[in-house]
Amino acid sequence: MMGRTHMAFGAGAGLLLAPLFGASVIPFVALSTFASLLPDVDHQNSKINRMLPITRWIPVLFKHRGFFHSIFPPLILYALFWALNLQTLGLPLMVGYLAHLGSDCLTRLGCNLLHPFSTFRIQGPILTDGLREYVLFGCVMVANGALVLSSTGMFG
Ligand SMILES: [Zn+2]
Repeated sequence: MMGRTHMAFGAGAGLLLAPLFGASVIPFVALSTFASLLPDVDHQNSKINRMLPITRWIPVLFKHRGFFHSIFPPLILYALFWALNLQTLGLPLMVGYLAHLGSDCLTRLGCNLLHPFSTFRIQGPILTDGLREYVLFGCVMVANGALVLSSTGMFG
């Protein structure tokens, strides 16, 4: 799935969940949107690896949609921030990371959420960069817009 679609899902998850956690919406959404790019550190040409040169060694050691596309990195990330008493950072990072994994589960390649302990992949009908992904991206952006408008009270 393309970086922009992941960011749309990360933003949407942040918009939905920030109020439930009583968090400030803007920093929460900024962090969840950023974190929605993190799992693709295991892909050579991903947006995150183009942005952050320091993570470019990861695809050499880890296969794409292997460990970094399991539920373990976001849990470890959250535990680290929790141990540092920085849940306000750890929570949106975990939310954005999980939004990425959830959206990759919609693709044909799918996601093995329990890698390396299982080989079971959750797969969907979306082809990366295909028409369905563009339609999905549009739908998520419209939903995000509606969430922003409703949170600012424009729908009453
Ligand atoms: Zn991915």
